[in-house]
Amino acid sequence: MTTFQTPRANDTLLPVEEAQRRVLAEVSLIDPEDVSLIDAHGRVLREDVRAPFDVPAADNTAMDGYAVRSEDIAGAPVSLRVIEDLPAGRIAEKRVEPGTAIRIMTGALLPDGADCVANVEITDAGADIVRVLQPLRRGANVRKRAEDMAAGDLVLASGTSIGAGEIGVLAGVQKTRVIVSRKPTVAILSTGDEIVDIGEERGAGKVVNSNAYSLAALVRECGGEPRMHGIVRDTREATIAAIESALDCDFVVSSGGVSVGAYDFVKAALDELGAETKFWRIAMKPGKPVVLSTLRGRIYFGLPGNPVSCMVSFLLFVAPSLRKAMGQGGNVLPPVVRARVTAAMRSTGDRRTYHRVRVVAENGELVAHPMRAQGSGVSTSMVQANGLAILESSVTSVDAGTILDVVLFGPVHAS
Ligand code: AMP
Ligand code: MG
Repeated sequence: MTTFQTPRANDTLLPVEEAQRRVLAEVSLIDPEDVSLIDAHGRVLREDVRAPFDVPAADNTAMDGYAVRSEDIAGAPVSLRVIEDLPAGRIAEKRVEPGTAIRIMTGALLPDGADCVANVEITDAGADIVRVLQPLRRGANVRKRAEDMAAGDLVLASGTSIGAGEIGVLAGVQKTRVIVSRKPTVAILSTGDEIVDIGEERGAGKVVNSNAYSLAALVRECGGEPRMHGIVRDTREATIAAIESALDCDFVVSSGGVSVGAYDFVKAALDELGAETKFWRIAMKPGKPVVLSTLRGRIYFGLPGNPVSCMVSFLLFVAPSLRKAMGQGGNVLPPVVRARVTAAMRSTGDRRTYHRVRVVAENGELVAHPMRAQGSGVSTSMVQANGLAILESSVTSVDAGTILDVVLFGPVHAS
């Protein structure tokens, strides 16, 4: 007969920070790969990129106007003879001699002899003779050679996350191929005899497999590649077979089967496969049962079955691991901000609780709107949520207006 599993005395609840430290200590760097520039967007750079040339390559004008000698216009207003017309992309044929000017368009290289540009707004815009109405200092309205990047400068360091700004810089130094982290592959397993897949007949007592899909979306949001491994029945044999079949991925993530119920086989299956289990109970709510094991060079995360517990434990433990595996520089843990809660919140006070909130920017500060229902099975509490407000253990309630630490996991928008 199967029975409930009783935690042993030394299976104390691990603080979240300690669990995160232990997880990250197990993660090693995955291989880099070479992709086209536009495919590098959203990836982690895995090479140091130096500027191969100066950008801009030479002094050029930041304004439409007239290339002049600052000396000539010191006594402005003055009139100068316009000797050439210079659009961007062409090199001046003439030199700016005393008493002359070259009409110049934004981006054109500064002609020899000139040391500043009288923007058209401070002139009469004359065609043959121009009247410059104000004096300018040397270098006025000129973009200096190499002011953006100098040849040899380290412009992007390995470990940088590549967004639009980084793509622009990579394009500017003519990188057609970029070395980035390979996307970590993540096998996703859903355990449970009660689980049916999204296209299947529901039947009495059945629960639809939402976890596999929310986990796959989370994996993608982190830059990984989810691999769907289906539903695993609650038997020892099925669990062992499913875990083994998932070991061709860099990480394995399962949902359910990690509590102390009679049909929770994940831990036992891992033990039987010779996995080294680093922890399985964490001092947090939702998401107390979270298994971390290593097996044949892979990292196994056994996340709880309740949809919210599953997502919250992914955000706190799996997401940072994926970032570290991709070689992301700096702190890979989700950022923590201070936000003012807009409604009272309660907790049982025995463990740290993570309340789902929507953080918005309002009148120059961050405000956290708690989600209506906070049950660990209420998947709709994650809809539009982008933060987890922390109520430390011993705190049983907070009033509206309290400022709390909030773990951010999505972008913050205006209210
Ligand atoms: P367990 O951790 O296996 O005891 O699962 C706890 C509860 O989570 C179950 O009773 C289900 O209601 C729910 N659950 C488990 N797996 C899934 C899943 N893949 N999708 C949605 N809900 C799930
Ligand atoms: Mg189960």
